[in-house]
Amino acid sequence: MDANDIVIIPLGTISPYPKGDRNCPAFLIKYKDQKMLLDCGNGSTRLLNIPNDLNNLHIFLTHYHFDHISDISALQYASLTHHNIGTLENKIKIYLPDNDINGIRNTIISNKESYSEYLSINNKVKYQIDNLTISFEDNASHSIESYMIQLKNQDTKIVYTSDIGPTNFKKLIDFCSNSDILICESSFLRKYDISGSNKNHFTAFDAATLAKMSNSKQLILTHFWPEEDRDRYLEEAVKVFENTQTAEEGKELVLRRKNYGRKVY
Ligand SMILES: [Zn+2]
Repeated sequence: MDANDIVIIPLGTISPYPKGDRNCPAFLIKYKDQKMLLDCGNGSTRLLNIPNDLNNLHIFLTHYHFDHISDISALQYASLTHHNIGTLENKIKIYLPDNDINGIRNTIISNKESYSEYLSINNKVKYQIDNLTISFEDNASHSIESYMIQLKNQDTKIVYTSDIGPTNFKKLIDFCSNSDILICESSFLRKYDISGSNKNHFTAFDAATLAKMSNSKQLILTHFWPEEDRDRYLEEAVKVFENTQTAEEGKELVLRRKNYGRKVY
């Protein structure tokens, strides 16, 4: 492992419920000694290496749908218990949207059984974690306020869309433009949405179209229906965008910086 490697590990790839050895949405990104957890859906905590992964842990909650946040209380409690027994020195950091939908934000930040600090997510704020700049944008196309996340340094740009709909494509293309890795939801298959009636989520076709139009280099599909074979998503996407993979729990993707600025995956 190279010191500058960025490692992306899917911890949860299905929605709206966990099934078998698959969990609801979560991606862990490791860079140097920092860990960034993008959402923490039901069951995803069991794939974390606790207590080690609690150190320098930044948890980003993209929106307040339960399939994306349901394990936050488990992580909060884990942080407190490991702090109490001396195996966690620094607080975990939880970043969450300012807009308090149904009181969920307040429920999370008022949880006393946690060793954590809380930071805002909105369109304007940026955070620096090592040399990665983390920024956000409300995609304005999901059923509630939901943020896309961008992680960027001089070599690499990673975008995690979280939940998005096809109604606001221009904005999505701008935010995802020239990504090295585009982690994109694909809740549906186009064959089940011939009428185009779905407005709150993407199809695999939509994800591939976004990857192509944003000039992204590699597409990782996620957020699958638990009862569907994920190869069907891949088949639909590769017709539009060839460099596509499906996310699978625990299957690491390593981004390595090479000489001449060329990256090898
Ligand atoms: Zn959602």
